[in-house]
Amino acid sequence: MLQSFIHYFLHFIAIGAIAYWYDKKQWKKNWLILLATMLVDLDHVFADPLFDPDRCSINYHPLHTYYAIAVYILGSIFVKHKILKLVFIGLLFHMITDFIDCLW
Ligand SMILES: [Zn+2]
Repeated sequence: MLQSFIHYFLHFIAIGAIAYWYDKKQWKKNWLILLATMLVDLDHVFADPLFDPDRCSINYHPLHTYYAIAVYILGSIFVKHKILKLVFIGLLFHMITDFIDCLW
C-alpha cells in the first residue's frame, strides 16, 4: 500500500516539481512532456505476465536495462535541445522510481 503510494506519487506528482524546476514559465507543458515519458512502460507488453507489481522492472524490460539507462544519463547531460533533454531527464527519473520498487 505504502509502496504503491510512493510509486505513483513519484511517477505523477514529483515530476510536477521537476517540470517547475526545469522552467517555471512552462511547467505545465513540461509536466505533460514528463507524463509522456511514462510511455516507456509500453515495453512491458513484451513481458509475461504483462503486469506484476512484485517484479523489478530494472534490467527486465528492454527500455529499463542498464544500457538504456546509460543512454538516458548521457542524454540528460549532453543533449542541448530543451524538450529532448527534458524527455531524457524524465526517463532517468522514471528509472529511479522503478528502481526504488526493487529495493522493497
Ligand atoms: Zn517503468
